[in-house]
Amino acid sequence: MTLGKQDRKAVRGSLVYFTGNPFNQDVGECLLYEKDGILVTEDGKIHDVGPADRILPTLDDDLDITCYPDSLIMPGFIDTHTHYVQMEIMASFGNQLIDWLTEYTFVAEQKFSDRAYADKIADNFCDQLLRNGTTTASVFCATYPGSVDALFGQAAKRNMRMIAGKVMMDRNAPAALLDNAEDSYEQSRALIEKWHGTGRASYAITPRFAPTSSEAQLEAAGRLKKQYPAVYVQSHISENIAEIDWVKRLFPDCRDYLDVYDRFGLLGERTILAHGIHLTDAECQRLSDSGTALSHCPTSNLFLGSGLLDIGRMTQGDRPVKCGLGTDIGAGTSFSLLQTMGEAYKVSQLAGAHPLTAARAFYLATLGGATALNMADKVGSFRKGLEADFIILDVKATDLMAQRTAHAESIEEILFILMIMGDDRAIRATYIAGQCLYENSC
Ligand SMILES: [Zn+2]
Repeated sequence: MTLGKQDRKAVRGSLVYFTGNPFNQDVGECLLYEKDGILVTEDGKIHDVGPADRILPTLDDDLDITCYPDSLIMPGFIDTHTHYVQMEIMASFGNQLIDWLTEYTFVAEQKFSDRAYADKIADNFCDQLLRNGTTTASVFCATYPGSVDALFGQAAKRNMRMIAGKVMMDRNAPAALLDNAEDSYEQSRALIEKWHGTGRASYAITPRFAPTSSEAQLEAAGRLKKQYPAVYVQSHISENIAEIDWVKRLFPDCRDYLDVYDRFGLLGERTILAHGIHLTDAECQRLSDSGTALSHCPTSNLFLGSGLLDIGRMTQGDRPVKCGLGTDIGAGTSFSLLQTMGEAYKVSQLAGAHPLTAARAFYLATLGGATALNMADKVGSFRKGLEADFIILDVKATDLMAQRTAHAESIEEILFILMIMGDDRAIRATYIAGQCLYENSC
């Protein structure tokens, strides 16, 4: 998408965004709420943000201002872990992780050797993200390089900031899906050269998880990370007890699950590991020390019966682990980060002593997600110079929500109602780099 010079726009409504982390700061210091605010964008970036009475006199008389009453204007949601190639197996019945992979995932992903099919699903996937207010995602593709071209191609059409990578997998899966250490290195390298930094695309070196990569392949992944330090790494960790036992058998010399990735140089500020439900204290400490991020995927963890992540334990002050939220489609059951926040709240109720507050949940879905993905200098909040990816949330999206929000007494109460009762119907519009790409016709 090419933007005209001085393409200036303004939206007016209630602004809600974070400037800090409510896990270690008072909410009053880091959650900004401007009841009557204006966000001004120029050439895809944020030009100004603040109260309407300050901004209005600075605007040209002929500038159109789009007004959104009964709505919140917020940075776009960030999905820190998902698989576009698993859309078609959402809501497939039964089984825990390993059987689910064999029975559904490994069958579905083989279809992505067909480029036309990959294009069609990637197109649909990007539309679903926008419809759900998700403006950036960290995405697993299939083992086929064409499946990565398909996703980045569709994201580029919409000018979306996207992280994605080709799955590296050379054992313990059907032959049709396997690559080998050297081919996966070469294919990933070619994709990095083609896509990383092209428009808003970022590449992620993507070994699926320890059990499906040989030591030679993990070594190749580590080699890529060393050669291309600006590139991301994404994988899975400690989702399921049987999986953890399997990793122990496959890598008997490693101290723990995390040590497998650590040994091959795969941890760091640009690494995102999904799940981490059953991590030990030593592993949490190492995640924290290395700056590695964790993606919490509550709908998937519940669906596969994997367990309950204690998010309070992850974010605790003495060794905080950077966390974001992930939908983990297709084991995840919704594209909606609102629903994901709602399930994260319920999981926190069962898992630990500290229920996830609305402020903390929305932080995870916006600035926290951007921080986990090491891109808080680009997206996730509102300040001059950041990319203008934002959404309009309708606090009266359904009759029931309208009834409930009518007597809400604080912004935190409204946010909590949204995350418990909201879904894609609450997304009134989604803007990418200042352009409105989705509007809810209802
Ligand atoms: Zn996953």
